[in-house]
Amino acid sequence: MNVIYMDNNATTRVAPEVLEAMLPYFSEYYGNPSSMHSFGGDVAAKIKEARENVATLIGAVPDEIVFTSCGTESDSTAIRAAIESYPDKRHIITTRVEHPAIKNLYENLSKKGYRVTFVPVDSYGCLDLDYLYQNLSDDTAIVSIMWANNETGVIFPIAEISQEIKSRDIVFHTDAVQAIGKIPIDVDKTGVDMLSLSGHKFHAPKGIGALYIRKGTKFAPFMVGGHQERGRRGGTENTAAIIGLGKAAQLAKKHLDENGYERIKGLRDKLEINLLENVQNTIVNGDRDNRLPNTTSIAFEYVEGEAILLMMNEHGICASSGSACTSGSLEPSHVLRAMGVPFTAAHGSIRFSLSRYNTEEEVDFVVEKLPPIIENLRALSPFWKKAMGT
Ligand code: PLP
Repeated sequence: MNVIYMDNNATTRVAPEVLEAMLPYFSEYYGNPSSMHSFGGDVAAKIKEARENVATLIGAVPDEIVFTSCGTESDSTAIRAAIESYPDKRHIITTRVEHPAIKNLYENLSKKGYRVTFVPVDSYGCLDLDYLYQNLSDDTAIVSIMWANNETGVIFPIAEISQEIKSRDIVFHTDAVQAIGKIPIDVDKTGVDMLSLSGHKFHAPKGIGALYIRKGTKFAPFMVGGHQERGRRGGTENTAAIIGLGKAAQLAKKHLDENGYERIKGLRDKLEINLLENVQNTIVNGDRDNRLPNTTSIAFEYVEGEAILLMMNEHGICASSGSACTSGSLEPSHVLRAMGVPFTAAHGSIRFSLSRYNTEEEVDFVVEKLPPIIENLRALSPFWKKAMGT
């Protein structure tokens, strides 16, 4: 059975060019980039090239890029660096819809005595900017706002927020893990102080990420050890993965420059429009005009998302639901709850996230298979029957 992979916000396939670039660094070129000999030095030169490619993708200079193990590490590093650099400040700000990589760290810090502000969103998943600005104070160490939401794809106005924060002595961090490679990003124009990215979301392997740290930003390392990454992250470099990340960044830049995302957006829109037309009581979660071009979160009312996923799985279709299985019960995600999506819709929410490897045939296949799945599940749903008065 063919796999129809539409779960690219969860992870992406490694691009063949990326794999090809990485392979020699597992076998032939295994030198340590810190070594004095040229066998190691040659690897260091490739890491330098990778750093340049990542910097170019986001409009940074290479020295501002620190390689990490993943998006989560980048997020943790940024936030811990800010609070360590401002030991007298006890207030931190984020949003209600962050990824657990941020959300759980903030909750953890709240237990340690930090005052945490979680900025709410409206029913379209858009941020309450007034609330954010009203809560900025001299006690605020860091504001961390995601660039784009992983579930709905809704994009936050990072440049605008940065403008407001700039004049204050507050670190502005953005988790751009979902935005990188999908929309153009320029840290210089935007003015963020720190930005997290993760390789496996844009066709590099898992286990590699990076943190952009604007020159001049106060910083304290999270991983203390050797002098690697100019003392900003100790530990011998994951050389093959770094080289893969550099290649993926180069490919992503080319793809964006050639407007490759227009095609993906076209496929996403076709999928969405057809499902909305062919399945009644179906709603798109989030602001449809201001989203990542590859993402759609669709609520099929009165059915269970997990049941939809299982039935789609029978056809090889991979997507995600808007629920998380906690303590044996299915809870709608904190993102959909923060948006006030009714339970009957949140439970039946499915996220489709496309990549450049998806085809029109795949979209047609999903559009053909999914409506009867929803119809069959609704025929079994007491909630549906009650809502329809049947
Ligand atoms: N931030 C966002 C918005 C994400 O979507 C993810 C992963 O899904 C992460 C952070 C964590 O990245 P990683 O899996 O590389 O740790």
